[in-house]
Amino acid sequence: VARISEAINQGLTAEAAVSQVQNGNRARLGQVSDAYLRERLLDLEDLSMRLLRHLSPEAKAAKPNLPDDTILIARAMGPAELLDYDRSKLRGVLLEEGSSSSHVAIVARALGIPVVGHCVGALSRIDPRDPLILDGDRGQVFIRPGEDVAAGFQRSIELRTLRKGLYREIRSLPSVTLDGVPITLQINAGLVIEMPQLQEVNADGVGLYRTEIPFMVAAGYPDLATQTELYRNVLDGADGKPVTFRTLDVGGDKPLPSFAVPPEENPALGWRALRIGLDRPAMLRIQLRALIAAAAGRELKLMFPLVAEVAELDRARQRLAREMDRAHALSIAPASLKTGVMIEVPALLWQLDALLHDIDFVSVGSNDLMQYLFAADRNNGRVNNRYDALSPPLLNALAWTNGKCRAARVPLSVCGDMASRPLDAMALVGLGIESLSMPAQAIGPVKTMVRSVEVRRIAPYLEQAMKSRDHSLRGKLRAFAQDHSILLEDNLG
Ligand code: PEP
Ligand code: MG
Repeated sequence: VARISEAINQGLTAEAAVSQVQNGNRARLGQVSDAYLRERLLDLEDLSMRLLRHLSPEAKAAKPNLPDDTILIARAMGPAELLDYDRSKLRGVLLEEGSSSSHVAIVARALGIPVVGHCVGALSRIDPRDPLILDGDRGQVFIRPGEDVAAGFQRSIELRTLRKGLYREIRSLPSVTLDGVPITLQINAGLVIEMPQLQEVNADGVGLYRTEIPFMVAAGYPDLATQTELYRNVLDGADGKPVTFRTLDVGGDKPLPSFAVPPEENPALGWRALRIGLDRPAMLRIQLRALIAAAAGRELKLMFPLVAEVAELDRARQRLAREMDRAHALSIAPASLKTGVMIEVPALLWQLDALLHDIDFVSVGSNDLMQYLFAADRNNGRVNNRYDALSPPLLNALAWTNGKCRAARVPLSVCGDMASRPLDAMALVGLGIESLSMPAQAIGPVKTMVRSVEVRRIAPYLEQAMKSRDHSLRGKLRAFAQDHSILLEDNLG
């Protein structure tokens, strides 16, 4: 703001001043080697584009009504700008800059809009109205595709539409296996705009509400009032269905624009999630206070991420108890409180008896549990595909955890990515896990699998297979699904 004012005082128009300052930002931040700071440049680009739109009538008019089936191409884009476009016309976004962790990608994912980033030179190589194929699954873009490529994609789009129709048909049918085992299916969410999906896919609730997402897309640190309103909107949006809020899970691969974590050699093993909450009591206190206030008179379900030992949980719970006492004194307490823990750090597996003694529920974060069990950074492309979720070590760890939870009568659910893949979810059901949480788009495919599987057949098969020396049971389980007519996404049509 100071630089823009200075440029205006020196005689530039407001529009020219914004452009000049943004050119300066681009030149400066473009050189920075730190990826996090470079990404902030995109936020500044977003801000200046919005300023320009307000300032100049031409720029205002420059955002036309989108034609049908638009793919938006931009050098960079901020999350706020994406929300300005008509979502019913937008089929995809192509960015010259930006990565899967950029804010626009986070919001686009929440809205189910495919985004492909890092497409250097896209703007100069693509003309308006050029036909494009954007494959968000594989991060590929085909410019003016040949007929054979277009026909191949057309076929896969038709299949996808067909499958969506099948999922709509089973929307109101129960999620229960062929032999009568009910499987709870919940959604993972992180933005209020995702809440309508809960009703759309008819899920049982929100099994993981990632509270850090709004923090990641906001420029400033949300204060108590902002957080309270946000969580209240989430609960209102859930319309009586349960919502499991996870306290802030930042640091590591989740940077906050408003809270700088000092650079670390091993961010995945570093200062993140509850560790920050315990070291910065005000952050945790404000969030707990906001969650409690938002849930006043209703049920509050909350869980702590990245708990490594029970003593750590106890410290967090003491703070929670203090906030609950305060809420009771002010008569703004939730109607009930359920406290849970995410199982993500292997150390906790060896303290399950103590943990399960007085906890209301646990939720397995298989993404982190895998990265720590296998010592393989989930964001490092060289190692993150080396180990499979359907490997005997991970499945044995989950079987052990589930057995302990059943014995202690503590509900367990899985909310990591594996729960969203039908074949992996089949294995989880085979282990006896009866509650899964996943992105809303996965509910249809996973429910389809659930309704075609028999626990009494898959369970003994899996128990034997888990004793093998195999790297992964994926091939065997896929063959099992084939032999037993279990419906997975790729054998549906
Ligand atoms: C997980 O680790 O599996 C999880 C659900 O948490 P996140 O992916 O947000 O780290
Ligand atoms: Mg995690």
